[in-house]
Amino acid sequence: MANIIDGKLISKQIKDELKEKVCELNKKGTEVCLAVIQVGNDPASTVYVGNKKKACEYIGIKSLAYELPEETTEEELIQIIEKLNQDDSVHGILVQLPVPKHINDENIINAISPLKDVDGFHPASVGALSIGKKGFVSCTPAGIIQLLKRSQIEISGKECVVVGRSNIVGKPMAMLLLRENGTVTVCHSKTKDLKAVCKRADILVVAIGKPKMIDASYVKEGATVIDVGIHRNENGKLCGDVDYESVEPVAGAITPVPGGVGPMTIAMLMNNCVESVLQEI
Ligand code: NDP
Repeated sequence: MANIIDGKLISKQIKDELKEKVCELNKKGTEVCLAVIQVGNDPASTVYVGNKKKACEYIGIKSLAYELPEETTEEELIQIIEKLNQDDSVHGILVQLPVPKHINDENIINAISPLKDVDGFHPASVGALSIGKKGFVSCTPAGIIQLLKRSQIEISGKECVVVGRSNIVGKPMAMLLLRENGTVTVCHSKTKDLKAVCKRADILVVAIGKPKMIDASYVKEGATVIDVGIHRNENGKLCGDVDYESVEPVAGAITPVPGGVGPMTIAMLMNNCVESVLQEI
């Protein structure tokens, strides 16, 4: 039986710690402020933006909502970002992705000041992470490090296998595990004998976007398994990239879906907003 890593509980602990920090900042006269920009009305994006606003409210962070029409041009969006970059009362800027197809998301990410890049997607933030300098870190992998640390799971010296090499999850995950002195292998769709590589892992992080692909035959007895995937199955139930029923009896610790990695992403976004202010003080 694996220990279930409770992302809901750990994210609540982090949000409560942040609430206290924000309260202290308020007493000193600083109001933490996050600008959230959504272009168009993609229903999934609307849900994500809503959850971010709710988390801000809970912690006491002011959120500025920019709900822009689908026809907004790239130039108009960049103008808004540049204004927010200059605005000292705004500490974090987030553009909910994906943006409509006529807007180049890379140009948008590059327009956000690295000092306010709370999503950690700007090339300067990514570069800082890879050379071990301070900077914002992508929220999902940062949240996974917190899940491991707060569950007393040692990373240093451990075989860590990350399945997936996206810019948002897989690559920053690998860099963070390396920073924590793990021995890291990154797998992807061209990896030969994925099963054998995964079976070496003491810590296996799965971010492939394929429902329930990783079953017990990929997992070493006692390994920690972190499931980043989120999917809705044919019955409308959420599941991950890991076949939980098959893996849970073999693993030493495992994150469930829902209630594992998911809640950590927003908690770390909130953390980045608060960090953005603390760096200035
Ligand atoms: P991407 O689609 O951007 O990347 C998927 C990665 O998995 C790619 O690197 C791809 O390899 C690799 N891959 C795909 N198929 C295989 C395979 N059969 N064997 C080995 N590797 C494979 O996904 P993301 O990283 O953005 O997201 C992954 C999952 O995590 C999704 O389900 C997403 O919804 C979820 N997610 C959850 C978040 C949360 O907050 N919980 C946040 C972000 C994502 P290659 O590069 O060779 O194509």
